[in-house]
Amino acid sequence: MLLLVLFACSDVDTSGEFDTDTGGTSDTGDTSDTGAAQELTLSSCTTAVGEGVAAFYSAYFRCSEIDVDGERVKIHTHGLPPHKSAYYPEGDPNWEAWDDRGGEYHANPNTIATQDTNVWIPDAPAAKGITVTTDMVDGVGGTSEHEFAGGAAGVGLDSVILFSGAAGPNDDIDEEQYTFDSWDGHPQEQGVYHDHSPNPGQLAVMVYNGYATTNVAGSAEIELYGIMCDGTVVLGCTELDGSTPSSADFDAQNGHLGDIVGADGTVYFTGRYHTHVCPGQFADAYFPEIQYYQACERL
Ligand SMILES: [Zn+2]
Ligand SMILES: [Zn+2]
Repeated sequence: MLLLVLFACSDVDTSGEFDTDTGGTSDTGDTSDTGAAQELTLSSCTTAVGEGVAAFYSAYFRCSEIDVDGERVKIHTHGLPPHKSAYYPEGDPNWEAWDDRGGEYHANPNTIATQDTNVWIPDAPAAKGITVTTDMVDGVGGTSEHEFAGGAAGVGLDSVILFSGAAGPNDDIDEEQYTFDSWDGHPQEQGVYHDHSPNPGQLAVMVYNGYATTNVAGSAEIELYGIMCDGTVVLGCTELDGSTPSSADFDAQNGHLGDIVGADGTVYFTGRYHTHVCPGQFADAYFPEIQYYQACERL
């Protein structure tokens, strides 16, 4: 709100005017740097994991508030990427100029807004009993009763909201990707910043937590992106222990069943459906479009 007030009072775009919390006419004398003027990063964001939450979440997630809620885990996120983006309001400490990569790349007209989103992940998800086939994975919303609904379909390791691999009914996901920022995410009309596909933001958390040395998708030693609302784990080119997935039993969204085991041998989930998003190596380049398990609750 402070930033909005400053913008409203200003008629001159003076560089640097908005990046401190001192000197503004609406400043009430708070000189501590705990407010909106601090850049949001993996170290400055708030991470809170409640008692009893499964080890998977405390081991891999940052910047969300995670709690046990019955036989589910509730992830609360503000949906703010803890890195720079051209989609933050200009003047925000996380704002950067649009990275003009030429070609068809262009910014969409939307701006990142703070969300208040809860996603509940079942501890023991129940399978629908479906087989995900090629005709179901078409990248278009509204074409299968088994798709994830539009909007928040999961949460990334960095608290960024995950959308499924389907674009809106009148959109094409392969077109939408040209509005991705330099971290491969973008906001929709209500300011919900989200990822549809492999991106350096979630892999930066793998680096931050010591599981990888690079956040370049396709090159990280271990690639985990997040979890979908139904309990589907979203991995990249590797299994969670760093081994190469066996693609022989993949379905049409590069999904299969298997234990989710960390590099140190910790078994986080047994027999869990998960997908491997690894463009260039496995067919489907986006986060899962089809909801394998029964429940998906988000608000
Ligand atoms: Zn999108
Ligand atoms: Zn696998």
